[in-house]
Amino acid sequence: MKKPKLATVWCEACAGCHMSFLDLDEGLVDILSQVELTVSPLTDVKDFAFPHVDVGIVEGGVGNQENREVIERLRRQCRLLIAWGDCAVFGGIHTLRNGLSTGEVLRCSYVETAGTVNGVIPCHEDIPPLLDKVLPVNAVVAVDGYVPGCPPAPEVLAYCLKELLAGRLPVLPEEMIHFD
Ligand code: SF4
Repeated sequence: MKKPKLATVWCEACAGCHMSFLDLDEGLVDILSQVELTVSPLTDVKDFAFPHVDVGIVEGGVGNQENREVIERLRRQCRLLIAWGDCAVFGGIHTLRNGLSTGEVLRCSYVETAGTVNGVIPCHEDIPPLLDKVLPVNAVVAVDGYVPGCPPAPEVLAYCLKELLAGRLPVLPEEMIHFD
């Protein structure tokens, strides 16, 4: 039987949600034996010409033009798209910049920090421009499932992946939605 295909990306994120996935430890062996992992930070594939996949998973908010293009491409290529972690679900901590203009954000980050001398705002064609606001994934493309948490605990990720593999959209039981 053909294994379902999975692709994962991180956008404006800290990588913590993917690290939580790695914290499944030996549970990863079981899950990865049941899926074909294609483009993902875990496979270090950086070609975002995604193959068609059954499940696409997004970590992170949408904060720059590249993020937007990547999730739009993933959305076109996946059957189910899952927002994974608070940044993808709500925008997360990155939305703290949403009260400022992009010019103010760049000046605060590269010029006006207390320890910066002669700071310069980087500018290069390879650096994607910031969007005016950091957005949750569902503000840009349709999302089929949500896994909140910062990061979602490994057992929550395992539960969701097992539900997806069983052909069900994951609906988290109440005990998996509370945070200590
Ligand atoms: Fe990092 Fe938390 Fe955002 Fe995941 S939800 S990318 S762990 S800040």
